[in-house]
Amino acid sequence: EPVIRLQAVRKEYANGTVAVDSLDLDVHEHELMVLVGPSGCGKSTTLRMVNRLVEPTSGRVLVTGEDVQSIDPVALRRRIGYVIQHVGLFPHRTVAQNVGTVPALLGWDARRTRERSAELLDLVGLDHATYGKRYPHQLSGGEQQRVGVARALAADPPVLLMDEPFGAVDPAGRRHLQAEFWKIQRELGTTVMLVTHDIDEAVRLGDRIAVFSQGGHLEQLADAVTLLAR
Ligand code: ADP
Ligand code: ADP
Repeated sequence: EPVIRLQAVRKEYANGTVAVDSLDLDVHEHELMVLVGPSGCGKSTTLRMVNRLVEPTSGRVLVTGEDVQSIDPVALRRRIGYVIQHVGLFPHRTVAQNVGTVPALLGWDARRTRERSAELLDLVGLDHATYGKRYPHQLSGGEQQRVGVARALAADPPVLLMDEPFGAVDPAGRRHLQAEFWKIQRELGTTVMLVTHDIDEAVRLGDRIAVFSQGGHLEQLADAVTLLAR
């Protein structure tokens, strides 16, 4: 059974824009699925329907076999981590507190939350003793993005959604982060759906790649090798 399943999904916004149409897409356990395509073709909308930030007009979105519309929001947040381009760290909370956001929300005790924060910061390459007490504005863009990834992984969600996660990082730093993230994803086995308009990123990271075209249509599914050969 796929971890994420979209069945005949359509999203028409209130102004009449059809962002996604007739979309069928499965993402399997431990898979890193990339959605790629030009700006405005419905990638973010697709991602946001998976964590219920957007409600489909018709069709069904299932996570681990359950319709997301029927999963309680706190349970959904435990199951799904979310990383966006400008990570939106809470400016008045330390890096460690930011990483502990979801565990705290889930009612973990303070000590377990602290230990988990430290572990995750180390995992994304930020020494927790150095970085944990800092505030977001004291970090570079790339470091903030790492904190965003650590925060999304803190409660060990089986599913991670990433929307242009490395978009705000300079090209050299981006390749470094992509490589590190790829290793972490392999190690943790997290099922990932990642949105990008960067074909190079898609090929570097994707186990499978869904190519979107204008009008919210899925053009094809390819593995990186096929895409490179085109
Ligand atoms: P992508 O992530 O591929 O850039 P989006 O899913 O953000 O595409 O957008 C798909 C289409 O839906 C675009 O035409 C966009 O302008 C439109 N759209 C996105 N969000 C909204 C909204 N809240 N209301 C109306 N139209 C929207
Ligand atoms: P609060 O409800 O405490 O105000 P937010 O709603 O601002 O917190 O969310 C805190 C952070 O949790 C978000 O910035 C986001 O990155 C992260 N997050 C984790 N899981 C999800 C999810 N499934 N949907 C949306 N955001 C999530």
